[in-house]
Amino acid sequence: MSVPRYIALIPAAGVGERMGTSMPKQYAQLAGKPMLQHVMETFSSSSLISHTYVVVSANDAYISDLPVMPRTTILKCGGAARQDSVTNGLLAISSETEDDDWILVHDAARPGLTHDLLDKLIAFVKDDAVGGLLALPMVDTIKRSDGHGRSEMTVERSALWSAQTPQMFRYTQLLQALQQAQQVTDEASAIEAMGHRPKLVEGSARNFKVTLPQDLLLAELIFKDQGLS
Ligand code: C5P
Repeated sequence: MSVPRYIALIPAAGVGERMGTSMPKQYAQLAGKPMLQHVMETFSSSSLISHTYVVVSANDAYISDLPVMPRTTILKCGGAARQDSVTNGLLAISSETEDDDWILVHDAARPGLTHDLLDKLIAFVKDDAVGGLLALPMVDTIKRSDGHGRSEMTVERSALWSAQTPQMFRYTQLLQALQQAQQVTDEASAIEAMGHRPKLVEGSARNFKVTLPQDLLLAELIFKDQGLS
């Protein structure tokens, strides 16, 4: 049996409605480059990642402007939801992967991922039977809304974590989980639905998801602080 490889899959076929821009948010400029380019460079320059696949929509008009990177392939097979984009990407690479290869799915909209975080996730999960994800323990007091702008109750937070990416699972198990799952917003939910318990590996606040216009400013600050811009 061959040694399992670490393969990155970046779903980048969203439109980013909440950013309120005409261009999809993964192409928004951050420290002089499109956000997606930062993410692709992190994986492409990692010695642990054997190949990176980027899933964009069939009518993506921006990806061809990004530089060609080593061991990186663009797949124009994005779907209607993130789950569809990841599933389509996995199906597209079936002939190049083994059942046990680790797939690391990472949002294009999380440009703050560092090699240290990536290496930490792999180190903590590589010998695990299920797989795992970067996540952060909740620090704020959590309220449940009544749906009308009022707090109905306070939710016990000690067991709550906020999921980040990468999320790392074995190729065949991940594909089956996503094909069976009903409308999940991350890979771990699909794996949980099969009765498994993905490992929670503490991530970092800098690996947050850029969603709203003001998030870009925060991401810029983080990049400047690290001398990366
Ligand atoms: O919209 P949201 O921030 O949840 O998207 C998370 C990631 O999933 C982004 O990288 C986005 O481009 C991707 N996505 C996708 N296909 C979709 C919707 C979102 O690849 N249909």
